[in-house]
Amino acid sequence: MDAVTLFSLIASNPISKRIIKKLLEKDGDTTKLEKMLKAYANGESIDKEFKIIYSLIKHGLKVFGGNENDLKERLKDAYWRRGFASVLRGIIDFGIRKPFVPGSPFLIVWDITYACNLRCKHCYSTAGKPWRDELNTEEALKAVDILADAGVTAIAFSGGEPLIRKDFFDIASYASKKGMFVAVATNGTMITKEVAKKLKESGVGFVQISLDGKKETHEKFRGIKGIYEKVIRGIINSKEAGLITCISTTATKLNACDIVEMMDIAEELEVEWFMLYNFIPTGRGGFEIDLSPEEKEKLLRELWRRLKTTGINFMSTAPYYARIAIQEESDIVPTHFYNPKLEGKLKILSEFIGGCGCGRFYVAMRANGNIEPCVFFPLKLANIKDFKNGEEFLKFWRENKILRDLRDKDRIEICGNCRYKYVCGGCRARAYAYFKDYMKPDPGCIIAAKLIEAKHGSG
Ligand code: SF4
Ligand code: SF4
Repeated sequence: MDAVTLFSLIASNPISKRIIKKLLEKDGDTTKLEKMLKAYANGESIDKEFKIIYSLIKHGLKVFGGNENDLKERLKDAYWRRGFASVLRGIIDFGIRKPFVPGSPFLIVWDITYACNLRCKHCYSTAGKPWRDELNTEEALKAVDILADAGVTAIAFSGGEPLIRKDFFDIASYASKKGMFVAVATNGTMITKEVAKKLKESGVGFVQISLDGKKETHEKFRGIKGIYEKVIRGIINSKEAGLITCISTTATKLNACDIVEMMDIAEELEVEWFMLYNFIPTGRGGFEIDLSPEEKEKLLRELWRRLKTTGINFMSTAPYYARIAIQEESDIVPTHFYNPKLEGKLKILSEFIGGCGCGRFYVAMRANGNIEPCVFFPLKLANIKDFKNGEEFLKFWRENKILRDLRDKDRIEICGNCRYKYVCGGCRARAYAYFKDYMKPDPGCIIAAKLIEAKHGSG
């Protein structure tokens, strides 16, 4: 039995559904299911209600070729148990669909402040000074409570420069103690050895540092001279403190010629991840610096070659990266949010994991609590202050019309007819930036661009 059939059986069986629903009920700060998973991971005796979950685990391991001891080790981490619970809640609430929708967002990217010490040309948040209505410490901690209560798996703090916020470490460690995986996206200039150590101690697990080109390009881009060395130091400090470290580069016409060299730097510095950001013209970034579909394609093919030949996770936020992987006929199907080195039988899951995750896998939160589909997608859906608890947030996650639209890849113009619609689906933020309509095609993809041109040409 393959994984999809297995999950479909659970989703359609009323008895298993009832049991799982019961296990997903709250039990103090967490759910019954997460408590049971913890006991299972620690080899303690487990309630008989866990039987169905255990048979699910057994089947899953057989199908995916995993090892029970490895899984137990992973499940010792609270965020793994959260992720597991979110998958099951997704099956119950949304059924088995392509691509998959978890029961609560796997990831919230939270611009915690718009204060920034740099003035980047392409900044999506037009940062500099903090907004007047940014959530204060008390409100930010309350927001963490709501997201934790809703079962969110991970929070990535971004900005602006998140490390500028004086209460950053309090908020980050609070989120980590609540059982969520914590990441931070920073310009790296403030990561001294002490800060790196403090990040680690606060429970931050992943640090993404922006580097957009060689010294001259980076400093021109970021608007301040002499910061390049500080960023490189920040990367080294982050790595030395034992943090999973990622270099992120936003590809535009201004730095296209440096990008391959950035990949070399990632290899030289031996970071674990390199993320090529697909520039979206929003905020301070203009349409004139957007790369052509062909230029993007070339960079993504090079990225792909590196992913295959090095030990580094060379990834991209461009959803067509998954299409390229399939075209290269590989078993590895990278997606924006997940980089499983999917082999053989697991490949089928790529259509469920899906490409663009906005409103489906993740949502963005602004410094004032506004919730938007993606950090590059300025469309307010709600405000975190609208919700009293996790249950209210989950109602929004299930029922918001825009979120529902964004999950329906079949209805997207042009992309909806593409064979890669479930692994890619085009970047919805890019469609929104170019057409002010998120159900339009993504003009950054070579396939979509040709079809858009043909459509306009024919009439
Ligand atoms: S046409 Fe759309 S769905 Fe197909 S690969 Fe391009 S962006 Fe992705
Ligand atoms: S809209 Fe989708 S593909 Fe585009 S940046 Fe956001 S999550 Fe990524």
